[in-house]
Order: sequence, then structure tokens, then C-alpha cells
Amino acid sequence: MAELPDVDELLDAAVRALGGARREGQVTMARAVAAAVAAEEHLVVQAGTGTGKSLAYLVPAIRHAMAEDTTVIVSTATLALQRQLVERDLPRLATALAPLLKREPTFAILKGRRNYLCRNRLASAADAEPEEAGLFDPRALSSLGRQVQRLHEWAEDTLTGDRDELVPGVSDLAWRQVSVAGNECVGAAACPFGQECFAEQARAEAGGADIVVTNHALLAIDATQGYHILPEHRVLVVDEAHELVDRVTSVASGSLSERAVTTAAKRAARLCDVELTERLGETADGLALLFADAEDGRIDHIPDSLATAVAGVRDAAHACISDIGPENKEDPQAATARRLALAALNEVHDTAVRILESFEPPLRDRRDVVWLAKGANRPPALHVAPLTVGGLLREKLFGDRTTVLTSATLTLGGSFTGFAAQWGLGREITGEPASAPRGERPKAEPGESDSAEGEPRWRALDVGSPFEHARSGILYVAAHLPPPGRDGLDPRYVDEIAELIEAAGGRALGLFSSMRAAAQAAEELRERLDHPILCQGEDSTGQLVERFSADERTCLFGTLSLWQGVDVPGPSLQLVIVDRIPFPRPDDPLASARQRAVGAHGGNGFMAVAATHAALLLAQGTGRLLRATGDRGVVAVLDPRLATARYGGFLRASLPPYWGTTDPGVARAALRRLDEAARVPSEV
Ligand code: SF4
Repeated sequence: MAELPDVDELLDAAVRALGGARREGQVTMARAVAAAVAAEEHLVVQAGTGTGKSLAYLVPAIRHAMAEDTTVIVSTATLALQRQLVERDLPRLATALAPLLKREPTFAILKGRRNYLCRNRLASAADAEPEEAGLFDPRALSSLGRQVQRLHEWAEDTLTGDRDELVPGVSDLAWRQVSVAGNECVGAAACPFGQECFAEQARAEAGGADIVVTNHALLAIDATQGYHILPEHRVLVVDEAHELVDRVTSVASGSLSERAVTTAAKRAARLCDVELTERLGETADGLALLFADAEDGRIDHIPDSLATAVAGVRDAAHACISDIGPENKEDPQAATARRLALAALNEVHDTAVRILESFEPPLRDRRDVVWLAKGANRPPALHVAPLTVGGLLREKLFGDRTTVLTSATLTLGGSFTGFAAQWGLGREITGEPASAPRGERPKAEPGESDSAEGEPRWRALDVGSPFEHARSGILYVAAHLPPPGRDGLDPRYVDEIAELIEAAGGRALGLFSSMRAAAQAAEELRERLDHPILCQGEDSTGQLVERFSADERTCLFGTLSLWQGVDVPGPSLQLVIVDRIPFPRPDDPLASARQRAVGAHGGNGFMAVAATHAALLLAQGTGRLLRATGDRGVVAVLDPRLATARYGGFLRASLPPYWGTTDPGVARAALRRLDEAARVPSEV
């Protein structure tokens, strides 16, 4: 290993250059990350808002990459964090650390192939009719045509071909006309545009970088589907780790729709016997008819008619696949058409097989759950998703690399074990970190090993938060209200919200468990209050948050994305209102099946799935209150079950440690005081 300054020295230099102050939690985390990487032990770190956790993992990650001449992968769930790392943190860090490290650290961003413009697709699709054209009216089609035309023009200018750099963006449908998924790419060697391919360029750049930033979906595809897209690495940092299970579940899920089968049939049309593609097209019609009559929701026992229709798709797709001839390397256009057809046919065939096979074992032994979804804005489709992804992560992600998993919220009910179980991690390691890498240590005694029964072991660290929650925030539970009902917001809830907002002088973020409740509250309160009330859906969420942040009297109501995405420090946000505990809907097919599966194996399904889901969202929603040192305020949870139900203690233990009360007078008085204090500067 090359001799480099230690992590403390590098972190001090970075913090000085970035104009910050030394924070204990950040130092503790940086040291722990460095120790975990040196000892090859997985590390799970909870680091509250304000810790500066990105620096705390980037500094030891950069040091390791440069000392070992290797690449460290950093994965995020959201585009916002990815941007923050690549556009702000890493460039500043690279400049700050270069003098100490003797060269400037390098970094790159890598996304899935679908995110980059495909020049080959662009060329071959130039005159082609969009695959889903038949589904659109002429107006939609001409708008699609205009968007694709714009993409052709953009292709002449862009240096990266990265969809996120196209402003304003285009619809998914338009983007699909000019991009390919990994299994649709003909391969750089066979592709006439291989030398100037954007995806290949991004990959080549990433190959030599010290740090590669990616997203959880690509990480999951790389680790689980055998496409080696990411550069070789032994150390992985997963930020926003609370999102990992959901993102991996999405990658490991499949769906079967009339549109997918029709697209496969169209792509195969010029490559197969016409009778075969017509037969496949007919199976799509059959699916559509069955979907139209069927109820949506989870399917525990597949009806014969549906099983026959799915088997029809499977067999027709298989016949087409068998009929497609070998690749013609001399003709790139034909090779592209063949690759696109095979990708679509394999997708519908494999999904149909998986759906049918998922019903074979008895209920309690099943690994997948199947449901029919019929949303208002989406065509009906059969979905299949894994009940757990722990096994997959254990085998494919944790087996051969050291992983640091971090987020502001990783302890639920006061413990890391809920997340560790979902990730498939084994027992927690306690005691001093090992002084040597795993491979160089003597074989451990049972109970001390890195891997008990094949389950990777891990260390946990909670570096807390620089905020003094108990002094800065109040958790008020409206225990006097009735439990929330099913038919919209009870008038007593609306009264309570009105009184709290009056006391706070606006400044309120309303986090509702459904869009219907948010809209009802906004509508009724606009009649009663003078404060402007914005509601999600009335403009882009980014615009709404900006207006909310700019005017202290304004309130913002909304649902899920606001629970996690609002970061408004200062007096514009001094009151967070939560209408009800955000349990998953009882008819949520995946959550209900997961809950049942835990119960069937002797666990408490409600606590392991529903309460855990609610705890995570509640922790994140109530965490919106304090975003900077000096912030003060009240979190008001109107659902009395947080104070009265048996699971209330578990949920409360998952929240930031605010000072608690159920006294409405105390909450209102505190809000009035805060309102007065916030008004003073502008009135002087
Ligand atoms: S190599 Fe693949 S992604 Fe790149 S231009 Fe060719 S087909 Fe498209």
C-alpha cells in the first residue's frame, strides 16, 4: 500500500478547504469506515442529518482507492444525492486533497445503459414507426415525433448522451425509441457505433476512476444478473441504504402486459415465420381480454383461464425464439433488429415461465408473489416480485466485497437488526475491529467467524446527530383524537390542523398518508385560514417546495415524496403534521404477501413488515423538522395510536429523540412562541 496521510489528516484538510468545522460524528464515522475497509468487515452506519456523512465515507474511500490503485463504488438511491456527490462534493474534495495525496483523485458517474442515448438505435429508428404507435392517437403520435426529432438534434450536440442532461426532458416513450437496455445492445465490437457509444465511453471513463458513483438499480443489475458493468472493486459504499431493498426488489421483479407481448411480436415480425408472430400477437389479445374481466390485486391461486393464457404467451414466445436464425455479423442493421427482438421475446417468455412456476410450491414455501395491477394511468399487467431479497444480496453483494451501508435512518425500534435481516446479513460483530483483513486472520472459532452459517457478519455504528432533538423539537401526539377512519379526514382532524397552523403562523409541512387526505385538508383549510396552502400535484414538487421555502406563512401539503424529499431549514418550516401512521395499505400485494410469509415461518408479520415500513417513513417524515443547527419546532402526529397502541413504543423508538407531549395546549403555546421569535427580525 502506498504511504498516504491518515484519514484524520485528510478529513481535517477537506473540512478546512470546504469551510466547515470539525464534527465529532463525522470523524468517528470516517475512522470506522477506514477500519472496516482495512479489516474487510461490513459496516452499517447511521449518521443523522448534519453529520456530513458523505465526506466521512468519501475521504477514506478515496484514500483506499489511491493507496491500493483500485476503484471504490459509491451507490445512491436518488438522483439528487448522485448529483450532490458528482457536482459538488467530489470536485471540491479532489481539489482539497490533491496536495496531500500527490495527485488529484479521479471520479466518474455510471448509470444503466438505458440512461444513455444509443447511436445505433437512433440510426436504425430514424425512419421507423414507434413500436407502440398503434396505442396512440394521432396527436400523441405527432408530439412523440417532435420529441424524437429533438433527440436527433440533441444527439449532435451532447457530449455524454446522458438523459439527465437533457433539459427539458422527454417522455419515457420517446426516450425508449433512442435507447437500449443492456440485453438489447449488440455489443460494442459488433456495433457500427461502438467507438463513439456514449454508454461505452462512460464505462471506459469509470474503469480508471478512483471513485465511481452509481445507483442502487445498476448495482443490483451488476451484482445479480451477471452483466459486469461496474469496474472491478472490493469496496462498496451504499448511501441511502434504507432504499436498497426496494430498489433491488424492483430490479428482481418482472411484469407481463399486452403491450410487452405486442412489442415482442412486432419486433419478431420480420425475423420469424408470420404464423408464429401472429400467434404471439393473438396471445396478447387473449391476455388483454382476461385482464379486462379480472379483479386487480394479489393472486394466490392462479385461475385456469389465466394460467392457460400465460402458458400461451410462453409457448408462442418460445416458438418465435427458436425460429429466429443466427446472427448476421455482416449486416449491423439486421443484427440490431435480431437483438431487439430476442430481448423482448426472452423477457416475455422468462416472465411467463416465472409467473407459472411461482404457483407450484405450497403457499408457505413460495419465493415470489404475483398480482394483477390495473392503474388508471397504466395498462393492466401481471407483476411478479420476490418476497425477500436478503438471500440474493447475501450471495451476490456481500460475499466478495466489503460493504459500508449508511443512511440517516437505519435503526428501527432502536435497533439495526430489522434492516440487517432484510439485507440478509448475519450476526452483528461486537468488540474491537479486527487488526488484519479477513483472509489474513486465523480461522475463527464458531460464534466469532465472519460468516455464521454463510451469513455475512457486520459491525454497527450510530454516530448520532449534531442536533439536540430534545431541546430543539417537540413530538406532540394528539392522543385525544379518535383513531383515523377510512372515509377521509375526520372533521376533528381538520380542526386540529387548523389550530396548529394558526398557532405556528403558517410554516407547516403536512405529510399525509394519501393524496386524497392531502387534497381534502388543503381544500377545507383554504376556506378557513388566511395562510397560503400549497398542495402536491398543483405544480412540480420542486417548484412547490421552493415557494414553500420562500414564504414563511405558506404551508405545503402532500404525500410520499415529501416525506423523504423536503429539506427546508429555517423558520419556513417549524411545524410538521402527520395525519396517520403510514402503514402499507392492507391490499398492497407485496407487503401483504411478505407479512403472511413472515407469519407462516413463525415470525410476527405485522411488526416485521407493516410496522417496520411505517417506522421508516415516520422517522424520515418527522426528520424534516430539524435541518440545520438553530432550527426549532413541533412534530404533530394526529394519529393517537402512536401514543396508545402496543406497537406505539416501537414506532416512537424509531423517531428522532424529540421531547414528547400529548398536551394540545403545550404544543400550541410552543408554536406561538416560535412564531413570535421568528417574526422579530423582520419586524425590527
Ligand atoms: S454499443 Fe450498444 S449502446 Fe452503444 S451504440 Fe451500439 S448498440 Fe447502442
